[in-house]
Amino acid sequence: MRLILLGPPGAGKGTQAQHLVAKYGLVQLSTGDMLRTAVKAGTPIGRQAQDIMAQGALVPDDVVVSIVEQRIEQPDARKGFILDGFPRTEPQAEALDRMLAKHGLALDAVIELKVDEVALIRRIESRIAEMTARGETLRPDDNPELLHRRLAAYRAQTEPLIAYYQRHGMLRTVDGMAPIPDVARQIEQALSGSEALARPAPAAKAKPRAVAKKAGKIGKKSKTQRKTSRNPAQTARRRPAAKRRPNAKPEVGAKARRRNRRR
Ligand code: AMP
Repeated sequence: MRLILLGPPGAGKGTQAQHLVAKYGLVQLSTGDMLRTAVKAGTPIGRQAQDIMAQGALVPDDVVVSIVEQRIEQPDARKGFILDGFPRTEPQAEALDRMLAKHGLALDAVIELKVDEVALIRRIESRIAEMTARGETLRPDDNPELLHRRLAAYRAQTEPLIAYYQRHGMLRTVDGMAPIPDVARQIEQALSGSEALARPAPAAKAKPRAVAKKAGKIGKKSKTQRKTSRNPAQTARRRPAAKRRPNAKPEVGAKARRRNRRR
């Protein structure tokens, strides 16, 4: 399974990613963590990212795209991964599409953690105050002023990705303001929903129509009508006719029997 967690800083992406790691055995790929590690190690990428991160701005697209590409090629990412904090811009999302296609991979879903910004700011400010009171170490970007800048960057550069993934039919939105276990449950439901969409409709679903037909409430539809009235989500997943043909019913007529005898 390959997922993206989308949401502003402080929405709980990291917490939910950890839950998904435990539940599905995926790896969490957090570009923020990767960049912080690079900064600590003083690598060229770290040196390039340090000041940008300290200002609450976004690191250039090509830098994050290259670290993500290297990371998804690692053996532990083969089982699947959760992208946390990436993509953050439309060019990053397009680069991810190309990268996945190149590796023959596809995304399963994009989970948007929808939050109320005012409540989110209050929540983060009180968390920072509590941590400070307990004498705990804060992350360098855990300060209210920087948070406002990071939120502004999210609104301007990352929020358009909601529409991007909606257009691609990948977006699942959950209420990020709910208690943590409830958000985790919503995410699980959203994911089981996407699996259900990929499965063919169960035969039992046809029953109400069969009953109605027997009762004379609906007439027989033409083949074209049946095709066009299907659920669009299922129609989109139908293989094109050319690909289905090899699995089509075998020929059974006298002509076919004669041909088989000759082979
Ligand atoms: P995060 O821990 O995800 O909030 O990221 C911390 C900081 O790392 C961000 O404020 C950005 O400066 C930088 N960063 C993380 N991910 C990205 C990304 N995908 N694109 C650009 N900058 C990023």
